[in-house]
Amino acid sequence: MEAGLHKAELTFDYPALAGWRWPAVEIVGQSPGPRLAVISGVHVNETSSIEAVIRLQRMIDPQKLKGRISIIPIVNLPAVPLRSQYVCPIDDKNINFSFPGRPDGSFSEALAYALLNDWAHDADCFADLHGGDLCEEVSHFMVVQRTGDDPFDQRNLAIAQCFDAAIIAAIDPSHMDQPARSVTGRAKRRQFAAFAEAGRIGLIEEPNVAYHLNGLLRLLHHFGMTDSAPAKTREARIITRYHWIPAPVDGFFRYHVEPGQKVAKGQLLATAENTYGEEIARVSAPEEGHILWRITHALSPRDSFIVGLGTKA
Ligand SMILES: [Zn+2]
Repeated sequence: MEAGLHKAELTFDYPALAGWRWPAVEIVGQSPGPRLAVISGVHVNETSSIEAVIRLQRMIDPQKLKGRISIIPIVNLPAVPLRSQYVCPIDDKNINFSFPGRPDGSFSEALAYALLNDWAHDADCFADLHGGDLCEEVSHFMVVQRTGDDPFDQRNLAIAQCFDAAIIAAIDPSHMDQPARSVTGRAKRRQFAAFAEAGRIGLIEEPNVAYHLNGLLRLLHHFGMTDSAPAKTREARIITRYHWIPAPVDGFFRYHVEPGQKVAKGQLLATAENTYGEEIARVSAPEEGHILWRITHALSPRDSFIVGLGTKA
């Protein structure tokens, strides 16, 4: 392919994906080099991350690029008409937890498989951008999949550190035993990946767009594809456990913590009331840690997850 920006519509030859076409872009550099594959819109309301990917297309000069950037700005196309939260409405699965996927699976499973196995199989790095569905606020954080292969894990951590994250969640190798995020699916193949979270409640907000966009620019520089990148402003705190804290009751929740905040063991995270304003439950931190995200909507049903907490052990 000659240097320049090439627009295309991708199709994948798996039964569940028949008839779907994904708008995509290839930015081919003037000189050879690595390949970075970038996706956003696995969750279509996480618009700050989608905006970053759209801006990236418009700011890269192919004449100065070494290698190739492949981009799919909206992965979860079936979710667009109803702005579905979390899931793909065709099979009601969360694509985000469908990797590495299956060629003969449902829409989400087949798409996850096609992304890793067909579209990005030879990419030197894969970046998947998230954060801020309609009822949540997330801190600036990264997820890294540990494998136990130390040289690989160190290089993957350095990739995550390209983003100006407050927190890096370096999750346990046991995640590779079940369907999981793209970063986990890539790690199973011993391929590098970045998984970035920043955003809130469906909004395009500059600090969140900048987190994603500057992270991608540093990633390009890290792989030697560009000559320069914006400077970082902080070093992330690395946590190794990612707790999903459930609502103990059906309730109207009032939150006492914000994303990014450090909390002590036993610290009050939220209180639940009934619709008479009477307190019916309290939710406390099971361990000392940092708030990765919290739900913003007051109403939460019992057993749905309301807070993500990162801890050391
Ligand atoms: Zn997401």
